[in-house]
Amino acid sequence: MDVDDSVVIDAHAHCGIQDNSFDQSFESYLSYVRHTGIKSVAAFPPVAEIYDRHDFHFQDNDHWIDRRTKANQYLLNIGNKELQVIPYFFIWNDFAIDQITPQHKGIKWHRHPSEPVYHYDSEKCRRAIDVITEKNMPIVLEEEFSNTVKFINDYAPDARVIIPHLGGLNGGYNAIVRAGLWGNRNVYTDTALASAYEIQHYIETYGHKRIMFGSDFPFGDPADELKKIVILNLERDVEKALLSENLIQLLSDSNI
Ligand SMILES: [Zn+2]
Repeated sequence: MDVDDSVVIDAHAHCGIQDNSFDQSFESYLSYVRHTGIKSVAAFPPVAEIYDRHDFHFQDNDHWIDRRTKANQYLLNIGNKELQVIPYFFIWNDFAIDQITPQHKGIKWHRHPSEPVYHYDSEKCRRAIDVITEKNMPIVLEEEFSNTVKFINDYAPDARVIIPHLGGLNGGYNAIVRAGLWGNRNVYTDTALASAYEIQHYIETYGHKRIMFGSDFPFGDPADELKKIVILNLERDVEKALLSENLIQLLSDSNI
């Protein structure tokens, strides 16, 4: 990937134009980061453009298939000289791996406890994990705790997984500590909405090579989330690793 490591890269942002609960368009994101030094962003579609998160018994249908397809395509057509967009493909239960293009650099895999479940026991799911692992694409995995552990240990043991928010929405930072996942060399994380204590504890305990700055825009303000990192006064090389180098390294190791 051709990304300049002297700039800041946001490893976690939501971007789309169908879910209007927030303005989370490319233009909106750009207006938030214009004076921050953020020049590149790993973006995934908003959850509300992928499935009905309020219906545990949600059944897929043409409307949602169309919405999901458009949401993933939107990311392929945005970005400009000021701000590069690194699209991640948001995968859901149709496991539409045929829609993954060489432009997609990662996978978004997301569900909260009350939301419709991924069909981990389906053949399609196993096939999708095989393909993603083969391409060595990082998977941003936001799932409830038990599924996070099973995903990393059993379902996708050879995939590179980013547990976002330092585990904040995957059962919590300490639950991931106790499960022994942070020490797994395939497990990465991002700083979006995490506390300064967790960031510092993580770096002291697990090193600074698998942790990346993320904002979780529109839920986090990219400028504030970036300031949170800068005021930690990390060693220069550590800060640089978080702000760009680790994500560049992660993406350059993929086979796409
Ligand atoms: Zn997020």
